[in-house]
Amino acid sequence: MKKFTVSKAASKGIVMGKAFIAVQEKLEADTRIIKDSEKDIELAKFKKAVKDSVAEIKVLAEDSEIFAAHLDVAEDAVLADSVETKINDENKNAQLALEEAVAEIVTMFESLDDEYLRERAADIKDVGKRMMCKLKGVKSNPFEGIEEEVIVIAEDLAPSDTANMDFKFIKGFITEAGGVTSHVAIMARSMEIPAFVGVADFRSNITNEDYIILDAIGNEIIVNPNEDTKAEYLKKAEDYKKMKAELESMNDLPATTLDGRTVELFANVGSIADVENAVSRGAEGIGLFRSEFLYMENTKFPTEQEQFDTYKKAIETIKHPMIIRTLDIGGDKELSYYEFDKEENPFLGWRAIRISLDLKDVFKTQLRAILRASAYGDVRIMYPMIISVEEFRAANEVLQECKEELRKDNIPFNDSIQTGIMIETPAGVICAEDLAKEVDFFSIGTNDLTQYLLAVDRGNQKIAKMYNSFHPAVLRAISKVIEAGHKYGKMVGMCGEFASDEKALPILLGMGLDEFSMAATEIAASRYKVRNLKYEDCKELAKAVCSKSTIAEIKALID
Ligand code: PEP
Ligand code: MG
Repeated sequence: MKKFTVSKAASKGIVMGKAFIAVQEKLEADTRIIKDSEKDIELAKFKKAVKDSVAEIKVLAEDSEIFAAHLDVAEDAVLADSVETKINDENKNAQLALEEAVAEIVTMFESLDDEYLRERAADIKDVGKRMMCKLKGVKSNPFEGIEEEVIVIAEDLAPSDTANMDFKFIKGFITEAGGVTSHVAIMARSMEIPAFVGVADFRSNITNEDYIILDAIGNEIIVNPNEDTKAEYLKKAEDYKKMKAELESMNDLPATTLDGRTVELFANVGSIADVENAVSRGAEGIGLFRSEFLYMENTKFPTEQEQFDTYKKAIETIKHPMIIRTLDIGGDKELSYYEFDKEENPFLGWRAIRISLDLKDVFKTQLRAILRASAYGDVRIMYPMIISVEEFRAANEVLQECKEELRKDNIPFNDSIQTGIMIETPAGVICAEDLAKEVDFFSIGTNDLTQYLLAVDRGNQKIAKMYNSFHPAVLRAISKVIEAGHKYGKMVGMCGEFASDEKALPILLGMGLDEFSMAATEIAASRYKVRNLKYEDCKELAKAVCSKSTIAEIKALID
């Protein structure tokens, strides 16, 4: 039995299972020019890859239209002919031939006017990927075929990996990369999967034969526990669940301090399932609907109707205010069906509102869907990564265009729909007053704000110790933003992970934050805490904290 101590859990809970070390292979073709005598071998390899892919897709297609379309592509003669010609006439090995053939067909489809045919390009890419996996002898989904309870251990996991996981068997995960505000950590919290991220070199200690207890309450990992230890931790897991249930029995009470200040406790969500969970956990609204998950879990840009259906279902489920953040892609969030140029600094690059303003059709599709959903409840729009008043105005101009189109077609929507912004860049903080004059609300995104203010990558394990939202610069920035918002009578919320930090809560409350938005699982504990605090004390604390010049002094005050 071995024990490892971890500094902080990315998502709380206690689970156990067999170790499953994820093998995530790169899918670049192993390129080679072949001799004439090798052609038959390469042709046979390709034919086998097609046959195996078709067999795999047939099973998936039984209950999915997407995979039914994939089956047509996999069996299509155009792709096969092109690959075979490249092997026969150009002496290319099967991997190179496949890579080139897929790229050519995709380019051809993407240049077509017909939207339906353009969308087929994504199917061809996916099928090409599956065939490439077969040629390389690797699994297309590294988490496929897991049929016992496991703890996944990986170098890193992207949101698209978690979309591939079957949580009936995957009980928790441990990654070597990432920080507690990386997107994989956020996904873990929203799906209530206990997780540790940023556990350096962990894979070197483990094999697939090991058994693991992941204690993301006591911040320990126990490898190969004896039966007594297992029983002890099963009991701990049970106690933890009971404690959570007890806190949740207060779900219907308002988050009001002992001296009468009430704040709103909202939930961060990424799907309908999250919204349903938010309702059952007493969320008083949705403070952040991360709409990008609708895009990441798709094989093409979701249509207006698909998005409308989701947003409508979401607002009808929550029946309280719901803030939908427009597409926040880029940085560490990519789309399998859209080619992003390689960037030196993706977090400082083409992401979020910058993409929406450039891809106007994609932006309008989303805004029209949100507007249509606004006819069914208090839906609000939030633009991410705003750095200037101009950007906010430009986004609202597109919104205006969408409103006019809908009006012309007699499609109902809420004409006075609120539009707000995320404050998550230093520019947003410094220009907060100018922005406050124009927006309807602010929501502070401390995950990015901390990384941009401190120039510390939120996902880089090497500098994770420096990523600290209790830094005086971050706390003073938050205070300034709240003041600026209130000066112009605007609601100020927070949807970064800091909003659910139990030590930050009294400071944020004292600064006057109006709305706290967090993973639904954190709401009950935050409600309990707010109800046991005095606003007047918190105001004093916030003032004192903002006058300190080191993290150590701040920590001393809050401890
Ligand atoms: C943030 O940056 O704080 C935020 C809520 O957005 P995301 O974590 O999705 O970047
Ligand atoms: Mg952000």
